Amino acid sequence: MKYDVAVIGGGIAGLTAAIYTAKAGKQVVVIEKQERLGGRAMTNYKNGAFFNLGGHALYFGDAYHTFRELGLSLQGNKPSTDAHGVWKDTVNTLPLSVTSLLTTPLLTWKGKMEFASWFTKLTKLDTHKYDHISLREWIEGHIKDPMLRNIFYALLRTTSYVASPDLLAAGPVLKQLASSMKGVLYLDRGWAPMVEQLRQLAVKLGVHFVTKNKVVAVGHQNGVVQHVRCEDGTQIEASHVIMTVSPAIAHQLVPDAEYTALHTWRDQAMEATVACLDVTLKRLPKPKQQFVYGIDQTVFLSNHSRAAYVTDDGSQLITLCKYQGPTTDAQQDLQDLEHMLDLVQPGWRDVLVAKQYLPKITVSYDFMHTKRVENPGPAVPEIKGLYVAGEWVTHGELLVDAATASARRAAEHIIAHDRSERTANYGHRNII
Ligand SMILES: Cc1cc2nc3c(=O)[nH]c(=O)nc-3n(C[C@H](O)[C@H](O)[C@H](O)COP(=O)(O)OP(=O)(O)OC[C@H]3O[C@@H](n4cnc5c(N)ncnc54)[C@H](O)[C@@H]3O)c2cc1C
Repeated sequence: MKYDVAVIGGGIAGLTAAIYTAKAGKQVVVIEKQERLGGRAMTNYKNGAFFNLGGHALYFGDAYHTFRELGLSLQGNKPSTDAHGVWKDTVNTLPLSVTSLLTTPLLTWKGKMEFASWFTKLTKLDTHKYDHISLREWIEGHIKDPMLRNIFYALLRTTSYVASPDLLAAGPVLKQLASSMKGVLYLDRGWAPMVEQLRQLAVKLGVHFVTKNKVVAVGHQNGVVQHVRCEDGTQIEASHVIMTVSPAIAHQLVPDAEYTALHTWRDQAMEATVACLDVTLKRLPKPKQQFVYGIDQTVFLSNHSRAAYVTDDGSQLITLCKYQGPTTDAQQDLQDLEHMLDLVQPGWRDVLVAKQYLPKITVSYDFMHTKRVENPGPAVPEIKGLYVAGEWVTHGELLVDAATASARRAAEHIIAHDRSERTANYGHRNII
């Protein structure tokens, strides 16, 4: 088996990289260890409901624009931003609109005025100026009102999925917050239709899929990538290999990775994990409380049914997540999530239809943090033909936007590289 490009992993990054390289005329194979494609963008259909692996919102960022460019139909809607905030175990209106700004008991007049001025300032902010300072430094240095600071911590935690403001770089997350002011999309039937459309497009472009087969090594010789080896012994020769796995797995797959940039990228990586509780309820005990930020706790709740078709029987799909720190406790996290549900939707257990609990799932294997030595990828400089992509290969994008942006960077690198080799060979022939 011989290909121009072998892509390891069939999540969003792998599918995007495969499509862009195939569009450029390359022979492409995707190798995915699971039976299904999609990775963390997978959706499970259970008890009449479409459960993503935790709540997923599509921002109007790189992924959205990439999918539109590829002609995908993204059905769903923008959820309303009538928000609440939990502070000292009380649910209050959160000032995310002009009316709620006037009525919220959370802020003093001075705080309200300061918040109102940020609504306009945020979209015009040159966020790159804050790429190398921590979120805490930015908030403490720019927001005067103490309660407004707490609200900003909550908003930016939800935007980034990161609960470490001392490490998170301020610039990228401020940019994402500004972008989220245009709204986000909750997709009908979860993210599965998006994954399926990517798969179909890839197949149409001639991409070959190998599923239920794990890559165990990436062979290279004299500084040039040669092949990938799978668990069942299959060896696939390829001129280019794109690894869309975590930095730790990428390091494991490549012999002598310690002498390459993969070593730095693995060592500098900081994971962001969450505990997710998704429930479907026959009806909402408190219909007005559908979108709630924990202000003094790192829990967030959103009803996806208010904007998207995510259940077949009309029940309401509520997703909650708890942003985790370095140590986690599955039982405590579940208690905290259920406590939030008790506060926001009291009596929810009486109307419960189905439940999904993910005690610890990685949202990103790395994020833009202040201790980063260098941005990873697209190429592994020491091994010609070897690339990385995936949400951790961010150059400032967040979450799935980083997955698509890094995949396109890897594809562009390969295409540009082959073009320059062709030109060089052609030039050589002319001289002869
Ligand atoms: C709870 C949660 C909530 C999220 N919410 C949002 C959100 O609201 N908005 C947003 O933009 N993003 C969100 N994300 C992030 C988004 O889901 C990810 O950024 C994106 O799906 C990552 O895609 P990927 O291709 O980089 O990685 P993955 O999806 O992890 O794909 C990697 C693939 O590689 C496969 N693989 C691993 N090792 C091997 C091997 N050795 N051989 C072969 N295959 C292998 C895996 O099975 C997997 O399919 C969320 C993520 C989580 C977990």
